[in-house]
Amino acid sequence: MATIVPYTFEKKEEKALYFTSFTKGMKVLIATEKPFAAKAVQGIVDILEGAGHRVVRLEKYTDKSQLLEAVADVDALIVRSDKITADVMAAAPNLKIVVRAGAGFDNVDCAEAKARGIVVMNTPGQNSNAVAELAVAMMIFMSRNCFTPGTGSEIKGKTLAIHAYGNVGRLVGLKGKALGMTVVAYDPFVADNSVFEADGVERVESVEELYRRADFLSLHIPATAQTKGSIGYDLLCSMPKGATLVNTARKEVIDEQGLKKALSEREDLKYVSDVAPDSGSELSELFGKRYFATPKKMGAETAEANINAGLAAANQIVDYFATGNTRFQVNK
Ligand code: NAD
Repeated sequence: MATIVPYTFEKKEEKALYFTSFTKGMKVLIATEKPFAAKAVQGIVDILEGAGHRVVRLEKYTDKSQLLEAVADVDALIVRSDKITADVMAAAPNLKIVVRAGAGFDNVDCAEAKARGIVVMNTPGQNSNAVAELAVAMMIFMSRNCFTPGTGSEIKGKTLAIHAYGNVGRLVGLKGKALGMTVVAYDPFVADNSVFEADGVERVESVEELYRRADFLSLHIPATAQTKGSIGYDLLCSMPKGATLVNTARKEVIDEQGLKKALSEREDLKYVSDVAPDSGSELSELFGKRYFATPKKMGAETAEANINAGLAAANQIVDYFATGNTRFQVNK
């Protein structure tokens, strides 16, 4: 059983005492099956070592046993899409913090981490521009017959509907506006209307209205128990003629059977995704140029996003050990 390390404190003095006991000399593992860009790694190491911590790296690992071995004596972990499950935490009795360098944190078992007193953070906003640029590229790619000969169409003048107006959704909306699109958005969790007003984006009140109006639907909901499999046949079939669903969120939010049925019945609909759904090869065979998926998840795969997210992760770890700052904690 792992050592349970407390991270909520009754009294300020208790917290100060706790953190001064291990402010420096923490062992931090960068565990990346898909490594960061070299410049990002150098930056992460500089920040952590500059603050007095030790850094070890496990990159391009091919088997989970390598990860289980590498976490044995680490205090902190920086990961990308690496799966941090209960067995990984059980193998890491000293682990105090996991930072997912990126936005989605569905690869970390947050409930298990909470039960073990391990803080989980993400680095929101650091890779959003990269993902937003990919979403725009995907719209144009699908409008131009996947860059094969033939008459395509323009995105200017079309309606871009944004499903979830967070960091990525908002940037896609702004880019859409710059390209002459009409932008509408749905996000029931954004309390403040002024966000939409400031961007000149119309807020719609229901998901049904959003899909009904979407020439392009750009999907940015996180993958949660509520959202997984939530985008299916009915919503897709309600989209206007010639509509395209652009998914740079997560493949898991799509109901694949519903998607297949909608694409079969509606020969005008298109689907483009980062990354391929489980039934990707079947969709390719059935729907040709109406379907495209990136071979590997590449939304955040830019040097800039790598560096931004990696450095943010390192800074958050330094700050956590120095002051106990849990601003970006996602498993409170
Ligand atoms: P974010 O946390 O800034 O925004 C998410 C938004 O979703 C929030 O505004 C929230 O209110 C909204 N939301 C949550 N549940 C919703 C629901 N049921 N209906 C409508 N809105 C809902 O996250 P982000 O940085 O914009 O990223 C969005 C998602 O994109 C991530 O969760 C991640 O899964 C995915 N992502 C993919 C890549 C990639 O490489 N393709 C990279 C970054 C993020």
